[in-house]
Amino acid sequence: MKIVLMGPPGAGKGTVAKKLVEKYRIPQISTGDLLRAAVAAGTELGKKAKSIMEAGALVPDDVVIGLVKERIGDPDCARGFILDGFPRTIAQAEALETIAKMDAAVNLDVPYNVIVERLAARRTCRSCQAIYNLKNAPPKVPGKCDACGGELYQRDDDKRESIQARLKTYRAQTLPLIGYYEKKKILRTLDGTESPEEVLASVVRVLGRA
Ligand code: AMP
Repeated sequence: MKIVLMGPPGAGKGTVAKKLVEKYRIPQISTGDLLRAAVAAGTELGKKAKSIMEAGALVPDDVVIGLVKERIGDPDCARGFILDGFPRTIAQAEALETIAKMDAAVNLDVPYNVIVERLAARRTCRSCQAIYNLKNAPPKVPGKCDACGGELYQRDDDKRESIQARLKTYRAQTLPLIGYYEKKKILRTLDGTESPEEVLASVVRVLGRA
């Protein structure tokens, strides 16, 4: 099963992707996580991506397409995978078509005001990338990941200054993908404001794999 998870930043793509990984035993491919790992490792790619990400803009298509192409070639992707945060432009979607035939594009619909609140309250584990929300899903011990004990931090681009820029980028460059996948007849839009468990149940339902 090959799934694209779509929706604005803070729609819950990462959270539901992790639940789908457990359920279907296929990997999550998050271009944001891959890029943040490159930034943390200080690679050439990471150095170039850092300022682009902080500005809430998009890393060039050829760079992310290359990352995804390489990752999809790994043996653990043979049975399928969940794309989280890719594609983000029509050019990326067209490139993806030459790499893999996707079964579904699941779009998590969340209104603007909810997104801004969610992003500002989001904390991420530096070690395992688990996602928390200080209001709705706080960790048991403040600042520590329940799963691995890692340090929780606020992503630079989750700070209020970057959020508006990311939403603008989303509207200009990523929103057109909804029409793109609608035409391909694989778009499934869901209410992303519900709890992570309810969203997971809806995703499983629309995928027809309960
Ligand atoms: P995310 O973790 O998906 O919110 O991504 C964080 C940031 O990484 C984005 O704001 C972009 O700067 C960059 N990024 C992630 N995925 C992509 C992509 N598919 N194309 C271009 N830039 C990306």
